[in-house]
Amino acid sequence: MLTSICGINWGDEGKGRMVDLLSSDYDVVVRYQGGNNAGHTVINEKGKFILNLLPSGILRDGVVNVMGNGMVVDIKHLYGEIGKLEEAGISISPKNLKISSSAVICMPYNVMQDCLEEERLKDKKYGSTKRGIAPIYGDKYLKKAIRMGELFHKDQLKERLKDIVEWKNLTIKGVYGAEPVTVEAMMEYLEEYGNKFLPYICDTGKYLDEAAKSGKKIMFEAQLGALRDIDFGIYPYTSSSNTIAAYAPIGAGVPNHKLDLSIGIMKAYSTCVGEGPFTAEYFGEKAEALRKAGGEYGAATGRPRRVGPFDVPASRYGIRMQGADEIALTKLDVLSFLDEIEVCTAYELDGKEITDFPFSADLERCKPVFTKLKGWNKDISDCRKEEDLPKEALDYIRFIEKATGSYIKYVSVGASREQYVVLERK
Ligand code: GDP
Ligand code: MG
Repeated sequence: MLTSICGINWGDEGKGRMVDLLSSDYDVVVRYQGGNNAGHTVINEKGKFILNLLPSGILRDGVVNVMGNGMVVDIKHLYGEIGKLEEAGISISPKNLKISSSAVICMPYNVMQDCLEEERLKDKKYGSTKRGIAPIYGDKYLKKAIRMGELFHKDQLKERLKDIVEWKNLTIKGVYGAEPVTVEAMMEYLEEYGNKFLPYICDTGKYLDEAAKSGKKIMFEAQLGALRDIDFGIYPYTSSSNTIAAYAPIGAGVPNHKLDLSIGIMKAYSTCVGEGPFTAEYFGEKAEALRKAGGEYGAATGRPRRVGPFDVPASRYGIRMQGADEIALTKLDVLSFLDEIEVCTAYELDGKEITDFPFSADLERCKPVFTKLKGWNKDISDCRKEEDLPKEALDYIRFIEKATGSYIKYVSVGASREQYVVLERK
């Protein structure tokens, strides 16, 4: 059984929360793309955790967690992240964490480059998390990246590093006029942090292939949502990797396997971190009220997230791109304070109403078309069954199901593991 848990929207849909919940049934959880630009929040009986690089199955005893070849790994950050979890009593060892030898290492000069470029862009900035993600994916495709498995071959690694550092300094010093990095410092860094992970590094593709063939249940965890996918999202305001479910078997190292189930995580309203077109965006007091109700401040960066109502054209597109068989609608409880709930049901583009999500360049000119639904105006965070939900909340769910042509199976009504409702397929 191979299942993907993916974001339908712009990220921060609550993927970490749903992976933590649904992984009770799984043997393995795999992160297959992205790096420590992720911020996956998990709240359960062990405490509150924000995971950046570690898969969200790490808090479950008996679950093996894999960081796949599609990831970019900041090894210093990973060391710190593991340290924090260990302080909280979570034990992490090669038994419950495996790192792909083909995953690439996000280096200090990649972080530097990310910061220098955002600075250079000034008001035209992309809204990068400044964690080196775009530069290291760039390096990967330019074939100038170092992979985790190279840490076992230090002589070879040093030779490659010399070439890479010489090349990288052409940019750091030549383009930005910044202080160049040295081979010695970078090698020291790789020794200091890389060596800690030697026992964890292996051929995770082989491990997962064998696990799948022996009937183990595997869950793939995405970072970010469909609208941030490098190919299918709002380019160039996307992430630098493929966030979609179809990429999961590739980024995990098992392209010979097919997904059995795609679960799309979709937020009951919209949020977006960073720059780029965000058609149904709220501003002013309306935005502040929703942001406050939803606690919409970035888990990885602390930045206030941009907010808006549920967006049908964008979500329907996200569902299609994720091939989502079923949906978990998250943060429905956040809307409880509203008397009336707006939904963006279409866009107006050059005077015409459209319902299909347009090409990025057209998106800038789109205006939202809203429909209003009645709010339920009461606390739903203790609801555990369909019957517990107020009629207006169910109407809202059914409206979204119909508008997006999806099956909403899970409704999350709070951030803790047990705060959810399962709905029958109608
Ligand atoms: P991810 O990046 O998709 O894993 O999502 P984030 O963790 O960045 O953002 C989701 C935020 O909403 C986190 O702070 C969660 O603790 C919280 N959260 C998740 N589900 C719910 C829910 O149903 N209700 C409420 N109120 N908060 C939720
Ligand atoms: Mg997040």
